[in-house]
Amino acid sequence: MEKNRKRIALLGSTGSIGTQAIEVIEQFPELLQIEVLTAFSNADLLIKQAKKCKPNIVVIGKEDLYKYVKEALWDDDVKVFAGMQAINEVVQMECVDMVLSAIVGVAGLAPIFKAIEADKQIALANKETLVVAGELMTRTAYEHGVNIYPVDSEHSAIFQSLAGEFHNPISRLIITASGGPFLHKNRGFLQTVTKEQALKHPNWKMGNKITIDSSTLMNKGLEVIEAKWLFAVPLEKIEVLVHPQSIVHSLVEFADGSIKAQLGLPDMKLPIQYALTYPQRMTSDLPRLNFAEHPTLTFEAPDLETFPCLALAYEASRKGGCLPCVMNAANEAAVSLFLQDRIGFNDIPKIIEDALSQADFCIPSTIEEYLQIDKETKIKTLEKNSK
Ligand code: NDP
Ligand code: MG
Repeated sequence: MEKNRKRIALLGSTGSIGTQAIEVIEQFPELLQIEVLTAFSNADLLIKQAKKCKPNIVVIGKEDLYKYVKEALWDDDVKVFAGMQAINEVVQMECVDMVLSAIVGVAGLAPIFKAIEADKQIALANKETLVVAGELMTRTAYEHGVNIYPVDSEHSAIFQSLAGEFHNPISRLIITASGGPFLHKNRGFLQTVTKEQALKHPNWKMGNKITIDSSTLMNKGLEVIEAKWLFAVPLEKIEVLVHPQSIVHSLVEFADGSIKAQLGLPDMKLPIQYALTYPQRMTSDLPRLNFAEHPTLTFEAPDLETFPCLALAYEASRKGGCLPCVMNAANEAAVSLFLQDRIGFNDIPKIIEDALSQADFCIPSTIEEYLQIDKETKIKTLEKNSK
């Protein structure tokens, strides 16, 4: 039985997706096994997870926490490593079948590339990987016969809607958006909103960075680019539709005009489970959707003037090359400044637009080049906007 279990390296185990992924994996001990856990700074939670899940290896990203983690796990049968290089190495180990990346931001780029190079199957929550280097990632995955299974709920919905349809032409992908906490607000209102307001997402409980991205609609912009690479569908065929109830997770329209969608209560455990157990649908105890309790499902076009980030993402992806990387870096820098109360909400799109207009166009061909552009853009953005 042991032999047939899928051995998983869970990157970012201490985050919102990471902790939910552990709960999912624990439901299916006959199918799934945690081989590696990695965290960045939350040593205490990593130690707790290691004692409970008994992985073969844990990695703490912050090297100065190595001693603390190592000592806490002294009596446990767990190997402890530290540093980002160690994360890049453990994903390539023979004992790993699948890598689930729940790291936030561009930090997830290198480990996933290394995992693909080592022919590991990928379950991807870290959308920034495809936003920044989608062409390189998907080409390398194709060359290595590696499948990238989406964890993002919208992309999981599209993936589920495409089951059995692989040779049928797609006429449109429709990605739904909740609209976030500031749906129907105007720019004047947004001028003074605080991070506490922006962090109150109406339907989903997520990490801080993606929650701010949801409030600016940049999350949808990132998801449009993610969908373009995952499903090889051109941008012109990818639309965003605001659906405040977050029940319809996304839709696919086929050449004959038929539309398929995937529905359910907003709960990330379902897409995490589908990515880990595909093609099987395992019985779960997740709460079920009762339509009578949700009689009204509404849909509307996104407000691109009030929330310019979505249009910026389309534009950066259309122009291609290094621009999605520049956009992502400027966004990560702007979100961190907003979370430190150093800029206002409406400054986020302005900073991204400025970074895009200042960027020297180039076409990176390696992960190192992407990471260099990311670093330079973040330094410039932080220098320019730190008060
Ligand atoms: P969190 O902020 O909750 O968790 C991030 C995880 O990444 C933590 O384990 C953190 O470690 C680790 N991490 C942070 N920085 C680094 C770094 N430099 N190197 C290595 N590891 C690092 O994020 P979420 O779980 O919300 O999101 C993770 C990814 O999944 C994002 O890309 C997001 O867009 C995507 N996603 C999330 C959804 C959600 O519901 N949360 C839904 C769909 C997609 P530590 O805490 O120990 O510092
Ligand atoms: Mg999503």
